[in-house]
Amino acid sequence: MKMHDNQLRQIQSQLKSLMSRPGFYRQKFRDIDAAGVNCQEDFEKLPFTRKDDLRHAYPLGLQAVDDEAVIRIHSSSGTTGTPVIIPYTHKDVDDWALMFERCYRMAGITPRDRIHITPGYGLWTAGIGFQNGAERLGAMVIPMGPGNTDKQLRMMMDLQSTVLCATSSYALLLAEEIAKRGIGDKIFLKKGVIGSERWGEKMRRRIARELGVQLFDIYGLTEIYGPGIGISCPYENGMHYWDDYIYCEIVDPQTGQTLPDGEIGELVITTLQKEGAPLIRYRTHDLTRFIPGDCACGSPYPRIDTLIGRTDDMVKVKGVNIFPSQIEEVLQAVPCASSEYQFMLDHMNGKDECRLFVELNPGYKPKAAAAEIQREFKSRIGITTIVLPVAIGELPRSEKKSTRVFDNRY
Ligand code: ZN
Repeated sequence: MKMHDNQLRQIQSQLKSLMSRPGFYRQKFRDIDAAGVNCQEDFEKLPFTRKDDLRHAYPLGLQAVDDEAVIRIHSSSGTTGTPVIIPYTHKDVDDWALMFERCYRMAGITPRDRIHITPGYGLWTAGIGFQNGAERLGAMVIPMGPGNTDKQLRMMMDLQSTVLCATSSYALLLAEEIAKRGIGDKIFLKKGVIGSERWGEKMRRRIARELGVQLFDIYGLTEIYGPGIGISCPYENGMHYWDDYIYCEIVDPQTGQTLPDGEIGELVITTLQKEGAPLIRYRTHDLTRFIPGDCACGSPYPRIDTLIGRTDDMVKVKGVNIFPSQIEEVLQAVPCASSEYQFMLDHMNGKDECRLFVELNPGYKPKAAAAEIQREFKSRIGITTIVLPVAIGELPRSEKKSTRVFDNRY
């Protein structure tokens, strides 16, 4: 994707300001002529910023403004040790809300809507991001946070929520609960804004059908504002992102080389206007691609594809790369399989062994279903897996992002 002139100017001014004061980037770029970045090619020679760099800057090493300019911090979940702390200025918080409002508008959500927010509040960027954007839009916010399904459903019915904001797995849990209780006719939802974990087409169709809503994928990560830096549009062909606030690149996850438009690789983001903690060439570990050409919706904002996976979910078995999205395509092709699965890799008796746990739709015989899924898996992915069917609801549902691929080999 070609860098626009104004993006280059924003990057130059960002670099100039970062190099003008002691801190994270002056240290990181100490051997680099950051002032000499005059074109896209120069920019692509700058080193990447990685999550580990941000961890090492704990707690406030990333702060790029004076203390009085910082009004809030957020932190990414520290599943692997030290968390990452991101300071926000007034402008950062306002810009994030503005981007989030754009997301709601892109989804056709208006000030007349009632927005039911289930992602968590607190250090995490989720809940408060959904809320600030909705308030800026002028909609009615129902700030539920996660959990307590009884209360969620009661509020949803009594307040006639029209928009559900959730992770895909929590949306599924609520959809299943609504079906189980037979209260579908008391639910007024029209739209779902679903956080950016990667999820399959089959799960999407189930949630859309059971809740009777149109679904939108919203994208973001704590290190770069939070959710709201991009969203799918009603044409459901990738996610538009706000290229006046972020500059995106797609690189080969192994070599770091920039890939031609349309090829799948790792998304790398540079902030263009952020003050509290600007990031240059941040490796997101999200796998996607640029979607070339204009969108039928007429939006001038460019698009990345629906997330294909994480670079760390990509597993290699017998020389074959497997992405979670491929497993989802297999399950989508066989009517007996539901959307939920877990794929386990183990090293046993000197060789790699794959096991696929799959929730079966009601009415299918497990043995025949397993054989069918195994055939489809072999024909599409090229390797043999043991298929272990389970009943609907037996695999874990989670309110946060769920892991479906487990590599236990090492
Ligand atoms: Zn569009």
